[in-house]
Amino acid sequence: VTRYAKPKTVGEALGLLREDRWRLLAGGTDFYPTQGARPVRDNVLDINGLAELRGIAETADHWVFGARTTWSDVVRAKELPPAFDALRQAAREVGSVQIQNVGTIAGNLCNASPAADGMPPLLALDAEVELWSLAGARQLPLPEFVLGNRRTARRDDELLTAIRVPKWSATGQSAFVKLGARRYLVISIAMAAVRIELAGDGTVARAAIAVGSCSTVARRLAGLEAALAGCRPGSAFSEAIRAEPLPELAPIDDVRGTGEYRIEAAREIISRALTEATGPAFSGARAA
Ligand SMILES: Cc1cc2nc3c(=O)[nH]c(=O)nc-3n(C[C@H](O)[C@H](O)[C@H](O)COP(=O)(O)OP(=O)(O)OC[C@H]3O[C@@H](n4cnc5c(N)ncnc54)[C@H](O)[C@@H]3O)c2cc1C
Repeated sequence: VTRYAKPKTVGEALGLLREDRWRLLAGGTDFYPTQGARPVRDNVLDINGLAELRGIAETADHWVFGARTTWSDVVRAKELPPAFDALRQAAREVGSVQIQNVGTIAGNLCNASPAADGMPPLLALDAEVELWSLAGARQLPLPEFVLGNRRTARRDDELLTAIRVPKWSATGQSAFVKLGARRYLVISIAMAAVRIELAGDGTVARAAIAVGSCSTVARRLAGLEAALAGCRPGSAFSEAIRAEPLPELAPIDDVRGTGEYRIEAAREIISRALTEATGPAFSGARAA
């Protein structure tokens, strides 16, 4: 017999996860399209009754996004520092407003699509996920959680309860650029998130760059990050991007674009994101 449960507390949910196998249901914006018109034959654990998992909180060391936090919640979260601008820009570009109102960041990560728009900004913020089971909690950095196309390190009895961003990473200025075949409601051909900390002399003290849709899992670009350190925003950025082989990226050819095109596109959108995060438009927007 197929079961449906909508627990009211995390404890109750973890008890259910221990006793049976379930498919978790959050906003359903990946769950239902994956299901299609077939009848649901798995047990469904609906987490939409878990009020404690919704919202953004600030602790001494972290910014904590409860698993049920929606993209619209992120768009509205004015308390987040500029390091989160990339995540906010990504939130505005996930599907449409209707999708953003119910779709959750946690669902985006658990679905583990190569084109998940939440991945690059969260990678650039060194985010980690918190997973709970009756055995206790564990935290995994994002690259150790999302393992491949539709594959995560979540165990069957675990619930992703929160996404945590350490405050030491929540610094600097950031931007996100998504390339799709049209402006809205589109799966990314490539997307880039950058987070830049500038030193007192205006050069780059630290760069965090992540690109999605150009590998099975979105990746940080360590070589480019190292090459950008010490550069002054402007033409030095473009030169560093041109010269960098981007070994982390291995894009495939598909209906949305060839691998070769994706690499060229990645270079261009990284460059645009860097300009946006560090350019005059940025300072102007902050001053206003
Ligand atoms: C029209 C449309 C447009 C879209 N556009 C975009 C887009 O532009 N960019 C983009 O990245 N995505 C897009 N998506 C995909 C989707 O909206 C997002 O990935 C969204 O963030 C998924 O969140 P959800 O809460 O709806 O997840 P659900 O569909 O409820 O769940 C997704 C997966 O995660 C699991 N899961 C959910 N929450 C948890 C949890 N707390 N613990 C453990 N497992 C969990 C579920 O079991 C399921 O496998 C689009 C979808 C649609 C239908």
